[in-house]
Order: sequence, then structure tokens, then C-alpha cells
Amino acid sequence: MTDDDTVHEDVWVFVEEHGGDVAGVSWELLAKGRELADETGEDLVALVVGEGVDDVGAEAVERGADRALVADDPVFEPYRAGPYGDQFRALVEERRPSIVLIGGTTTGRDFAGRVAVPADAGLTADCTELDVDDEGLLLARRPTFGGDAMATIKCPDHRPQMATVRAGVFDAAERDPDRDGDVEAVDVVVEADDALSRVLEREVGDVADITDADVVVAGGGGTEGDFAPVEALADALDGEVAASRKAVDEGWVEPARQVGQTGKTVRPDLYVAAGISGAVQHVEGMNDAETVVAVNTDPNAPIFEHADYGIVGDLHEVLPELTDRLGGRSPPEPTA
Ligand SMILES: Cc1cc2nc3c(=O)[nH]c(=O)nc-3n(C[C@H](O)[C@H](O)[C@H](O)COP(=O)(O)OP(=O)(O)OC[C@H]3O[C@@H](n4cnc5c(N)ncnc54)[C@H](O)[C@@H]3O)c2cc1C
Repeated sequence: MTDDDTVHEDVWVFVEEHGGDVAGVSWELLAKGRELADETGEDLVALVVGEGVDDVGAEAVERGADRALVADDPVFEPYRAGPYGDQFRALVEERRPSIVLIGGTTTGRDFAGRVAVPADAGLTADCTELDVDDEGLLLARRPTFGGDAMATIKCPDHRPQMATVRAGVFDAAERDPDRDGDVEAVDVVVEADDALSRVLEREVGDVADITDADVVVAGGGGTEGDFAPVEALADALDGEVAASRKAVDEGWVEPARQVGQTGKTVRPDLYVAAGISGAVQHVEGMNDAETVVAVNTDPNAPIFEHADYGIVGDLHEVLPELTDRLGGRSPPEPTA
């Protein structure tokens, strides 16, 4: 860092931690951040905010950061946008990074604007691709016009260049215990009494994060609204239920479970697509799954082109059969 306050350098990645768990997108961003920092010849810096998070800083170094900045204080637990945003903004103003990457999680989306707006910085939300051009400018790509086109957004005049990024679009950085780097405890600028909001009670809904699931069982139009076989198979495989946009538009499944261009990107070990045609916008959200099993009555359904295993058949027969074989309980036969 130089004393010249017009100079901004280094690539920062926010590493999001809650109660000992790190959001998977943070490690994905560290991998991408490493590539970008290597291209621009700058350092990759991880920023960790929370309570008791020194270990997370050390892990960020093992996963590719040149150094980690750790703001450790009880004021950051439980999460509130005010303390996170104020701390993050103070560090950005003091250290002047060139690029700041934040996971497009509920937390990331919540506080990123509190950093970008006062800093007069450019913030591109929900990116699915990142690169840098010859001048080291961040090229932030994201779907636009409801997913009909991709936009590349540059921010030539303001710093830092900020992006929130969708989970599941990059591979996670692997751990290398031999990597060296500093873990620096930074001054905490937020006082407990300064916070404008206080958490009185916490209620956790049942909307799961499908992006971190190892197994995803997704249903589409072919379910005709009967998701019981999909849920039973997901249960037997200890996986999460997901859906195509058709199933979400019909109101059969909540939007948080939609996979695809205008939904979420998933990269599970196993993706079961039941009664899903395989439209290009759906495939974009699941194409990187390790193993894909498709169940469809139409042998010519495009989903079979993306499947490792294809079963031509009625999902209402095939899924209960699979569930039984896995030792799970099939849903009761629908009554006429
Ligand atoms: C801008 C834009 C963005 C979009 N974003 C998304 C997105 O994020 N995610 C997404 O999913 N879509 C998205 N779509 C919609 C997409 O184009 C398709 O319309 C949608 O994916 C279709 O869903 P589906 O395949 O489940 O349903 P359908 O098209 O209705 O297909 C149903 C399939 O089930 C099969 N089937 C029927 N009965 C059975 C049965 N009993 N057993 C087994 N198989 C059966 C049929 O053969 C068929 O292949 C987007 C579209 C646009 C224009």
C-alpha cells in the first residue's frame, strides 16, 4: 500500500463465516481472486469479519490468499449489516483495494451496498463470470434482460471495483497447509453501542441453500405439481429438493429452489432431473454437476444430452422405485 490515495491495488475477497461455517462461495471466490491477482500482478487479500475467526483467516491463506485481514469482535455476532458494512468500509477507505469480491449470499447482498455507495464505487451484482482486461480493469459479467443476454460491466473511473458473485460458478480453492501468509488482526472500528439495530430473536426458516448441497433432486413440469416423489428421493439421498422455473412459476416450489440462469447455479456430486425437459436456461444452472441422472418420459428430451444416466419413464413410477431401493420411504400412492 502506498501513501498516494489515488492508488488502489490488490484483489480482496470477503470470506463469510457464520457460527463456524464458511459459505462455500468464499472459497470459490478465493480461487477466482487468485487467478485475477496473478493476472494483475497484485496481492490476493482475504477479509474475515466475525467472532473467533482467526482460524478462518489462516484457512484463507491455505486456500490461496497472500494475507488475511481479520476483524474479530463480538459486535459482529450475530450478523447485522451495520457493523459489517461500517467495518468493511473503514478498511476499504484505509487500504484502498482495487477489486473487492463478495459472495452473492443474503449476507453479501445485504451489506455490499453499504460499502459501495459511500465509497462512490461501482458494484455489479450477481455476477456469473469475472475476468480482467489488458489494463487490469475488472470485467464483471452477469445475465441481463431477464436472462436473455449477458452484460459485461466495467468500472473505469471509481474504486474499488466491486462485485457480488453467484455461488457455484467457480471451483472452490483447495487447501494447501504449506502455503505461507500473514493473518493480520485489524482494528475494530465498530462499538457495540453504536449499532443502530439489535437482534432480539432469530427465527430460521426452512429454505435450504441448494448451492452447497452434495445431492440435489430437481423436479419440473413433468411432476404436474406432485413433488412428493421428488421429496422422498431427496430424503433417501440426504439431498435437497430443487426445481425448474416451470415448477416455480406454477407455485409448486419456492423461488429459492429454482435452478438455472435466472435461479441458482448448483454443482452437486449428484443431480437428479425428474420431469425436466433440459431447456438451455435450466442446464446453465446444473451443467457442472458431477453426475447427472435424468428421468423423462420423452426419449428425445434434451436433458438426456446432459445426463450421465438416463431413465426413460414416468417419474411417478421411477422415483419411488429408486427410493425403495435406497431404503427410503416412498410417498403414498396418490388417490384418484
Ligand atoms: C430469459 C429466460 C430465463 C429462464 N430461466 C430459467 C431458469 O433459471 N431455470 C429454468 O428451469 N428455466 C428457465 N427458463 C425457462 C425454460 O426455458 C423452460 O421453459 C423451463 O426450464 C421448462 O421447465 P420444465 O422442463 O420443467 O417443464 P416443461 O417444459 O413443461 O417440460 C416437462 C418435461 O417433463 C417431461 N415429462 C412429462 N411428464 C412426465 C412424467 N410423468 N415423468 C417424467 N417426465 C415427464 C416432458 O417430456 C418434458 O420433457 C427461462 C426462460 C427464459 C426465456
